[in-house]
Amino acid sequence: MAILYADDPADAAAWAVAIRALAPGVELRFWPDSGPADEVDFAIVGGKAPGDLRGFANLRAIQSTWAGVNHLLADSNLPFDRPLARMVDQGLTVSMTEFIVLHVLDSARQGPRLRAAQRARQWLDLDPVAPGTIVVAVLGLGTLGADAATRLVALGFSVRGWSRSRKEIAGIESFAGSDGFKACLSGAHILVCLLPLTDDTRGILGAAAFAPLARGAVLIQAARGAHLVEADLLAALQSGQLSRAVLDVFAPEPLPVDHVFWRHPQVTVTPHVAAITRPGTGAADIVENYRRALAGETLINQVDRAKGY
Ligand code: NAP
Repeated sequence: MAILYADDPADAAAWAVAIRALAPGVELRFWPDSGPADEVDFAIVGGKAPGDLRGFANLRAIQSTWAGVNHLLADSNLPFDRPLARMVDQGLTVSMTEFIVLHVLDSARQGPRLRAAQRARQWLDLDPVAPGTIVVAVLGLGTLGADAATRLVALGFSVRGWSRSRKEIAGIESFAGSDGFKACLSGAHILVCLLPLTDDTRGILGAAAFAPLARGAVLIQAARGAHLVEADLLAALQSGQLSRAVLDVFAPEPLPVDHVFWRHPQVTVTPHVAAITRPGTGAADIVENYRRALAGETLINQVDRAKGY
């Protein structure tokens, strides 16, 4: 019986320390040194498999260290008939909330205008904007969206959220389904995307999403690159419907060096660093899921392959 670590080799030592601290007796192997294939009963992967994992006949389950599993669900190197768990990690959730709050506050406090004024040595007399007058629409009210939205409520913003099913979260106006999409976006000043990438959400950040927003709205996109219709974003920035976009994720990654976003004055590019799983906090669910896999139990955060997340 062995766990095969088949994620980023650079993180292998940290994961090994964190997993062994919780489960000292566990046998850990590291891709591509898997040992006898029939001894591997659990695999840890990242955004995609490093090679063909279909030959492990006794593999009970696969654990991703990433929250988003869209690449894994389409990965032909993985067996499609084994349970797959996505990562929910307190460290990752906290980092994503920091990223969203950072950029919402930067917009609310008119950071881009102030930085431009400094470059021009201009003493800008700005009136403060009360956060309650700023409407933030969060697409995706799951683990990450709900946490970020809750923090924004605590900071006094007017927060709406959109999800497949309606939510009851204190202070957040909840919208659901295709009927609720436009209502959630209508008049919003800041649009945050924390949706999983599925067939239903691919290309969702396009002209139809930007049109109902308040003129000059800001997009904060930290979900998956393929949510965004790049041409529609550029047109919305050009027309003034959007004033600015903060983009952490791209299709493809890394963002090509000649891409227009790198030097666009209204676009902030960050290299998919909004939130990263931390082994110290992420290992607990992995160890528990290993136990569950061996016991034939449903995994924590088991992916619903039909829903795609
Ligand atoms: P999650 O807990 O699965 O939440 C997903 C949310 O999206 C849920 O509220 C879900 O609605 C909603 N949703 C899904 N499909 C929908 C649809 N068709 N219409 C309306 N709402 C829909 O996921 P999470 O852990 O919050 O992560 C969200 C995404 O963040 C990940 O999938 C990943 O792509 C991205 N991410 C990015 C980074 C980064 O560093 N940039 C790091 C981690 C994750 P229900 O609640 O009704 O199911």
